Amino acid sequence: MENTSDIIRSGNLFFSIPLYREMVLLDNEGLEVIFNFINPIGVNTYSHKIDGYCIYCQKESTFSVENKQTLSAADWRGVTASSRMAYVELHCSRSECKYYFSFRIGGGKLQKCGQFPSLADIANDKSKVYRRVLSKGDASELHKAIGLAAHGVGIGSFVYLRRVFENLIWRRFEEYKEDNIWSEDDFKKMRMDEKINLLSGYLPKFMVENSKIYSILSDGIHNLSEENCLTMFEPIFRSMIIILDEDKRNKEHEEIKKSAEAALKILLSK
Ligand SMILES: [Zn+2]
Repeated sequence: MENTSDIIRSGNLFFSIPLYREMVLLDNEGLEVIFNFINPIGVNTYSHKIDGYCIYCQKESTFSVENKQTLSAADWRGVTASSRMAYVELHCSRSECKYYFSFRIGGGKLQKCGQFPSLADIANDKSKVYRRVLSKGDASELHKAIGLAAHGVGIGSFVYLRRVFENLIWRRFEEYKEDNIWSEDDFKKMRMDEKINLLSGYLPKFMVENSKIYSILSDGIHNLSEENCLTMFEPIFRSMIIILDEDKRNKEHEEIKKSAEAALKILLSK
């Protein structure tokens, strides 16, 4: 798991850490980073630039950290009961867009208490780009996966990603079972790697080559922690998009081929 300093320096504090997670400031370095970061006025100021998705510009952008208040080191170290609030704005470098955040600090801990736009809004807006290539059913399952991950529900998000994976396998089996005289009972009894092997000629190449994604998703649901699943969400989600996108392209290519063949047949019969 990332430590607090890494979370802050990478910008994940703003773009992926869910609300209310308590982050313990383990050492002086963490304290210093947070002090300079949330309170960038004064000596030893880092020049903070955060990369993230801007929902207003609808593309990746770089944000600068702006904040109006000053807090002393004592505020950070103060006891939790007397914790202070810090308000931070991220300003988009492309336009006038602003993101707003509030943090509770004290007792050697940092907690994000509010943000606008929400993580789910940012994630869903970002996924609009993908949704154009997805079927309604897949888009809705992926939408749920994004929403859950944005609210810190890692295992739940894996359940939806796994459903998208399984749906594609089942769709393909249904489409080709008659041509290949496959038995549904036998298919149901197969392990996922056997199913993928059987259907390999009809599945996206990326899916066949990276079939381990399914074991990671299953492992996440049964054995991994919320934290582990959240850390792995982004790469697994991106892989699922690649799979669905490739599948859609293959289908379109198949249709173009069929209609060309039909036209050719008519032409040659004349
Ligand atoms: Zn912007």
